[in-house]
Amino acid sequence: MISLSGRGRKDRKTQCPLTFVIVGGSIAGLACAFALGRAGHRVIVLEKGDAESHSSCTRAIRSPPNMSRILQGWGLHEKLRQVMVRADCTVLRIGQTGEKIGLFRFHEQIMQALGAEVLFFPYGQLWQELYKAAVDVGASIRFNSTVTGVTSSRASKPCVVLSDGTEVSGDLVIGADGNSGMSRRCVLGGTDESGIVDRRSIFSLEVPMKELEDRKELRALTEASNWDIWLGDGGCIHGHPSVGTYLYSHGYQMNFMLPDASQDVSGEDWECQYPVQGIVRHLEGYTPSLRDLVSCATGAVSVRYIRRDRLSSFSDDNDTLILVGDAAHNLPPNSTQNVALALEDATTLGNLLWRLRSQTQLSMFLGIFDELRLPRSAEVFRSEHEKHEFLSLPYGPLQKMRDEGLRIAMQKELLDWDEADEEYLRSNWEEYIRMFDYDASEAVDDWWSKWGSLMDAHSSNGD
Ligand SMILES: Cc1cc2nc3c(=O)[nH]c(=O)nc-3n(C[C@H](O)[C@H](O)[C@H](O)COP(=O)(O)OP(=O)(O)OC[C@H]3O[C@@H](n4cnc5c(N)ncnc54)[C@H](O)[C@@H]3O)c2cc1C
Repeated sequence: MISLSGRGRKDRKTQCPLTFVIVGGSIAGLACAFALGRAGHRVIVLEKGDAESHSSCTRAIRSPPNMSRILQGWGLHEKLRQVMVRADCTVLRIGQTGEKIGLFRFHEQIMQALGAEVLFFPYGQLWQELYKAAVDVGASIRFNSTVTGVTSSRASKPCVVLSDGTEVSGDLVIGADGNSGMSRRCVLGGTDESGIVDRRSIFSLEVPMKELEDRKELRALTEASNWDIWLGDGGCIHGHPSVGTYLYSHGYQMNFMLPDASQDVSGEDWECQYPVQGIVRHLEGYTPSLRDLVSCATGAVSVRYIRRDRLSSFSDDNDTLILVGDAAHNLPPNSTQNVALALEDATTLGNLLWRLRSQTQLSMFLGIFDELRLPRSAEVFRSEHEKHEFLSLPYGPLQKMRDEGLRIAMQKELLDWDEADEEYLRSNWEEYIRMFDYDASEAVDDWWSKWGSLMDAHSSNGD
């Protein structure tokens, strides 16, 4: 069912080193800096914030197997081991009562076949490891550098302009500046996208373990490696350990998707602080113990999601700027696959661009990037949106059907892997396998084994 061939690759370097200017030094920017530096290219990263605001962020992110495998291949899994928690299962509960109605186990057998696990660890730790890895391969990372525009034409090299008027030029600009960054506008020829403001607001906070020490009922949550989801009226709450030593957690991460809270939520980035008591006020329909848990948090952030049209290409018309990460995929914040897609983009670029033999091939390589990443991006976008809707159904007939279906499925899931109904497991896992088994590096290798020789022949014939 799951092919494991081709995983774990050796470094390979280009014969034609180019200069890449990356706008944005969060996960996508640093991951691309590492992958391209490792492929033998020169990289400059321009980040508007400072290192401290990234490295000190303790909120947890989720790493699905398709991402955990990339971290293994890059040697970062081992470095994050001290702070990661491995997820055992997803547990779905009724928000009002806490009643458990759904269970989805990350069976040992499936995880072994996938060659990686679902993990939780802090954003800041991943950022630090990527930063070190990028610097080690020679990337230059400049903080407090806000990019205000990109100038490009087919005739000359692209150049980014900083807010202090400085210009930085390279052979290709990589837009890793997130959902609301200026790179996306540049790819769309300067047009502002309006998009649809999502009716649900996202909030995120971490409850430190020390706050839970005297509260036995709440502490029990952090002692299991579960990914808990409480289903509410038109929204839901996710909770899972945030940082740990592989099996034992030291904190509890909570992410909220709440309806009709958007009036006071402004930004699309992760910079807007939000009062914890403000979130508690939106939790009327949830069990008092959840409200108690949230009250233990010391601070929270809010993020707004604006859903934009899908792009038909990730590069601009002049092939001087390409989008990666949230700038390209526009997934809802806090989805399972945001960070994973950023790492997949970086892996794809790295595995493509070490093969570059001349600068004239660059446009063709951007075409291959589109060919590989557009379908993957569309599939993940669809899957994440379906989950988003499924988990935030308003109370009514559809929600009742969902809950009943989950209860029935849980009875089957409670059986051991060997006893469980094969058809049930297949139907339950099919979608997840498609998301989790994707191997970005293997996708490039497969493409190249079919078309690479034609590409090289085409290039040596003078394009
Ligand atoms: C500090 C921080 C904390 C986060 N915390 C969480 C979290 O708790 N949970 C979660 O699910 N996701 C979080 N995210 C988002 C998560 O990193 C992304 O969804 C995912 O990793 C894809 O990352 P990205 O690099 O494409 O986009 P982003 O992470 O949004 O990064 C975009 C980067 O571009 C920079 N930038 C924007 N405009 C400019 C400009 N004009 N010039 C230069 N730089 C610019 C921003 O400062 C930012 O560092 C956080 C992001 C940041 C930056």
